[in-house]
Amino acid sequence: MYIDTHAHLNYPEKYGDLSALLGELAECGVRTVIDVGWNLESSLLAAQQAEQNPPLFFAAGFHPSNLGDFRPGDDARIARLLSRPKCVAVGEIGLDYHYSGTDESAQRRAFAAQLELADAAGLPVIIHSRDAAEDTLRLLQDNRARLAAGGVMHCFSGSPEMAKAYLKLGLFLSFAGPVTFKNARRLDEVAKLVPADRLLAETDSPYLAPEPLRGSLNTPKNLPLVYRKLAELRGEPLELLAQQIAKNAAALFLKLVP
Ligand SMILES: [Zn+2]
Repeated sequence: MYIDTHAHLNYPEKYGDLSALLGELAECGVRTVIDVGWNLESSLLAAQQAEQNPPLFFAAGFHPSNLGDFRPGDDARIARLLSRPKCVAVGEIGLDYHYSGTDESAQRRAFAAQLELADAAGLPVIIHSRDAAEDTLRLLQDNRARLAAGGVMHCFSGSPEMAKAYLKLGLFLSFAGPVTFKNARRLDEVAKLVPADRLLAETDSPYLAPEPLRGSLNTPKNLPLVYRKLAELRGEPLELLAQQIAKNAAALFLKLVP
């Protein structure tokens, strides 16, 4: 059974009504999906979807590229969502310096504030980092005390050196479609070096569909393709890998049923 630790099913323009998709997930062996917010509205929708659909859990938070949506009081509104029974994490949060004109210091402040929010709620964090590897690592190191409930580097795509530094902080590393892409040699290396008990997998739907579906609308139905690639790279039987990842997901996101 597969667990998608990161997807955005809270995207009505892409998925519409979820009932057909959720039915198909069970047939594909995907048992659980964490539906991840990127601003207040998407976090509220993820909460509602999780509360209506047993296979779904949710995470609430502000993505660094969506801070423009932040309104006064949204931090308190996110904090209230964190106490809901199906909320398993704060996320996705982090740093994204990809787009020009980005207010990097505002991103760092929001990231640190949300680490504090997670710590106060006793929840792990789901971390996004793009074109900001050094700052992400430094900020996490400086806020180590806020990581007591742990966290995951979602859709990890950094270097083996960065992977080791995050592992040293006690974080999990999660792999998505990019690990299946051709020319992912550096990522192949990382997927092999992650200790079995720190490995997670995800689709990051609707983005980053794995090979051979690259470029299409991604859904958690494609998660087995990521698992298969990880099993192949690590030389582990798929079934054992799936059991290990289920155990890891339950260890980090405590409210997931193992
Ligand atoms: Zn995401």
